[in-house]
Amino acid sequence: MKDNRKREKALGTLERGDSGWREATRIVHGGPKPSEQSGVINPPIYRASTIIYDTVDAYIDRHKGLYGDVIYGLYGTRSTYALAEAIAELEQGSATVITSSGTSAIALTLSAFVEAGDHLLVADCIYGPTRKFLSEILSKFGVDIEYFKADIAGGVAELCRPETKLIYMETPGSQTFDIIDIPAISAVARARGILTAVDNTWATPLYFKPLLHGVDLSIASATKYLSGHSDCLLGAITASDEAVFRRIKDVAARWGNCASPDDCYLVQRGLRTLDTRLERHQRTAFALVDWLVEQPEVQAILYPAHPNDPGHAIWKRDFTGASGLFGVQLDGLNENETRAFFDHMWTFQLGSSWGGFESLAVPAWPAPVRAFSNKERDGALIRIHAGLEAVDDLIDDLDAAFDRVRTLRRSN
Ligand SMILES: *Cc1c(COP(=O)(O)O)cnc(C)c1O
Repeated sequence: MKDNRKREKALGTLERGDSGWREATRIVHGGPKPSEQSGVINPPIYRASTIIYDTVDAYIDRHKGLYGDVIYGLYGTRSTYALAEAIAELEQGSATVITSSGTSAIALTLSAFVEAGDHLLVADCIYGPTRKFLSEILSKFGVDIEYFKADIAGGVAELCRPETKLIYMETPGSQTFDIIDIPAISAVARARGILTAVDNTWATPLYFKPLLHGVDLSIASATKYLSGHSDCLLGAITASDEAVFRRIKDVAARWGNCASPDDCYLVQRGLRTLDTRLERHQRTAFALVDWLVEQPEVQAILYPAHPNDPGHAIWKRDFTGASGLFGVQLDGLNENETRAFFDHMWTFQLGSSWGGFESLAVPAWPAPVRAFSNKERDGALIRIHAGLEAVDDLIDDLDAAFDRVRTLRRSN
């Protein structure tokens, strides 16, 4: 069997997706065949606006190629499609549309399936700018937007109406890290013909595959872990079936949303090491959590991989791993203590995007961006992204930050 594969590979007849490889291997070896691009391993960067045609007939028919051929730079080149195929395979979806950013992927998804008079159900724990898109843009087009609590599970059935078109979720939620029972909600939605979409940025398709749990659309901010190097912006929307994919692709074309081929290349390059990086992000996050729970000021860890987290059982059931982003609730840091904690850190950086190689720590206040209050989770917190540094350097930095707060407290 193995010898056969080797022979097929030598002959160039081995279908890459069909190799029987495990996911970690497919990430490393997947994608376009090097033999079709002069032996180059990663897909080259194709930059284009104009695409030229051989005949009038081909030119007139070009729009038939919108869903996979290179027909105009705006709609994608080989660079875009190579990345789209890699992400579709990871998500185990039908096909993927690459967009200019995670935010644009969300805006496109939210606007593609609703019109005036429709009802949209949205999990309360979503990313802040998603909420702003809903309140500042979509609500102005006559769409009725209703939020539900992240722990609603099958109870979402009571909120569904004949005019409900889409249920939009994010798990775990931004800042509060609430885990949503995706299979329960997608079952309710499917029975009623309602589409479901999940922002899957935190877990990445490596650790959670929403489409295998009945979801129709999985969204990733590729800016985060998929790229992994804090130097580009990109989004991805993966659809469970061809019709949903085509609708997204049409809407992206109409909005003129376009992914930079250079950034597609960078994300494709980042994907090669995604499995390795995530393993390390997770291991470091676990080590930091172990250290943090020993500190008397720490009241709670918001991290579904932690056994005390209320989302832990569902996370364990549905996810295959945890990424490196989590929240820490302290016993009420005041303003001065917050400054003392963050301003003098030397390994952790203060910055709000995450998923790159570097560790980040920022203060966050989720309560103002929630429709429902949840005293357990929406108080002031520290959001930590565990990067790829040596874990003891990170602990030294945290240790000094806690010491600064303790010194301040003793002096008051
Ligand atoms: C960062 C982020 C986004 C937005 O991604 P951009 O590429 O920065 O536009 C969307 N969803 C979540 C959960 C995020 O963390």
